[in-house]
Amino acid sequence: MQANRRVDTQPEMQLRSELHRLGLRFRKDVAVKISSRHVSVDVLFPRQRIAVFVDGCFWHGCPDHMTWPKANADWWHAKITRNQERDRQVTADLRAFGWIVIRVWEHEQPEVAARLIRRVVRTRHLTKVAG
Ligand SMILES: [Zn+2]
Repeated sequence: MQANRRVDTQPEMQLRSELHRLGLRFRKDVAVKISSRHVSVDVLFPRQRIAVFVDGCFWHGCPDHMTWPKANADWWHAKITRNQERDRQVTADLRAFGWIVIRVWEHEQPEVAARLIRRVVRTRHLTKVAG
């Protein structure tokens, strides 16, 4: 089931092309059902039950690159804080259902992130964790 909630971002596309280059097979922008709701996952390894999110530095409040807008500061603070809380909740929910969750900041080097993801995919594959 596809859930394209928005246009693919540049960091997502770069990460996906790196993953392809490493020979990994995955699905993109997939809605995963956990409990009674769906969570949209940027990069999904269904067999290994690994969910990867690419978090934008602004929308997810990166500690290194967050620049708070001057106008409507309170509103923005509340908005980004809500996003962060939702991120934490989604991560916790997926983990509770046996998923490995990897969150990549958009500022991270796609090559480095892709290699890390490959390592996790391989480890998961070898240990044959029950789905
Ligand atoms: Zn950042």
